[in-house]
Amino acid sequence: MIEMKNVSKWYGSFQVLNECSTSIEKGEVVVVCGPSGSGKSTLIKTINALEPIQQGEIWVNGVGVHDPKTNLPKLRSQVGMVFQHFELFPHLTVTENLTIAQMKVLGRNPADAKAHGLKYLERVGLLAHKDKFPGQLSGGQQQRVAIARALSMDPIVMLFDEPTSALDPEMVGEVLDVMVSLAHEGMTMMCVTHEMGFAKKVASRVIFMDVGGKMLEDCSKDEFFGNPEGRQPRTKEFLSKIL
Ligand code: ATP
Ligand code: MG
Repeated sequence: MIEMKNVSKWYGSFQVLNECSTSIEKGEVVVVCGPSGSGKSTLIKTINALEPIQQGEIWVNGVGVHDPKTNLPKLRSQVGMVFQHFELFPHLTVTENLTIAQMKVLGRNPADAKAHGLKYLERVGLLAHKDKFPGQLSGGQQQRVAIARALSMDPIVMLFDEPTSALDPEMVGEVLDVMVSLAHEGMTMMCVTHEMGFAKKVASRVIFMDVGGKMLEDCSKDEFFGNPEGRQPRTKEFLSKIL
């Protein structure tokens, strides 16, 4: 589903990704963790070409993201993305937030887009809030709307970049619950998160990035959590701080 081959990226002379390679199969949930500045956000943004790469190849469902000829709007419509800050349109209602990209990007008519959007809003437990503005919702609710908005586009993969790290602690659980249910339904997911409980529950694999943009580990969840002796010293140090 996603294939990265020797991906390197620089900001000016600063190398932010260093020969990153991995592949994510359909239905896998891959958790990406690592210290601040190690390139996790950059890595995830390269997958829908929000950040260009200078070296290597990225393939999404057989389409070359690195290829200048690729239709990026089409690619991006198939790759759902949820960020740390919910980035809903503040001047639009929840329903309008859910429908605008479906109409503009996918060409759905307003009635279809609304039906589709509200189906996902119900899934994240927020149908009663459909006519509110984002500012009238809690952070956890806004993030669930952001997830519903991404799902409304019928993505083939969902990317998450620390979706719970800006939330008050009591709201983290409601967002993780939605992500867990998505994982159980077989959605292909790549999640930057330090919620190791989530990783233990649903991850197929864990990638650990170290400063300098290197993927230091890319292994099964059982190997990552169950075999500390097999881990790199940097990984052990990191885990000792967050577990
Ligand atoms: P965090 O855990 O803090 O979110 P991260 O692992 O997501 O960190 P990135 O945001 O990908 O890290 O950033 C990796 C490195 O690249 C950092 O050193 C950052 O300062 C640098 N960087 C990120 N964006 C840019 C940019 N647009 N221009 C220059 N440097 C950048
Ligand atoms: Mg980041």
